Amino acid sequence: MHFKSNAYHKRNFGSIECIVGPMFCGKTTELLRRARLSKIAQLNVRIYKPSIDTRYSAENAVTHDNVQMSSQMVENAEDLQKRVEGEWGQVHVVAIDEVQFIPGKMVEVCAQLRDRGIRVIVAGLDMDFRREPFGEIGDLLAIADEVVKLKAVCKYCGENALFTKRLTEGKDVVQVGGAQDYTAVCEHCYLKT
Ligand SMILES: [Zn+2]
Repeated sequence: MHFKSNAYHKRNFGSIECIVGPMFCGKTTELLRRARLSKIAQLNVRIYKPSIDTRYSAENAVTHDNVQMSSQMVENAEDLQKRVEGEWGQVHVVAIDEVQFIPGKMVEVCAQLRDRGIRVIVAGLDMDFRREPFGEIGDLLAIADEVVKLKAVCKYCGENALFTKRLTEGKDVVQVGGAQDYTAVCEHCYLKT
């Protein structure tokens, strides 16, 4: 097979990879695994997370089992964009954890970064505790190159868990919490418990 231009192989294509699922399914672990592999490939990686999420560490992206890499906190989508543009040319991979908690036009910002050759990896909740799509996450999945939907283990029966259930009272959708506030459950146990 012949291509019209040899430059074909030299182009830098951007991409958007989405890692979604309920809490405790290993989203951040998968995000950090991909970030780590990029570093091994000698690419410059930046990890961002919402400033709302200070559950484990203000400066590091941390999984529930305490694996961590240094990260920057962002207020909103525009803040993230500015930070990437602030060191333009030096960033190859942008990894974003807990993307559902970042306010602003994340879909637009991710699309723009891809258009400009950045590999964008996002991790986040696909559904809230009411089992409804979390904000604009669905739009992000729609424009992604790759969607990875992970499952957790149901706390009550051990089946695959697709949903996040809130264990404590409160109606606010954005209530950042850990194992004491939320658990992963299968459909059967979501409806039963
Ligand atoms: Zn179950």
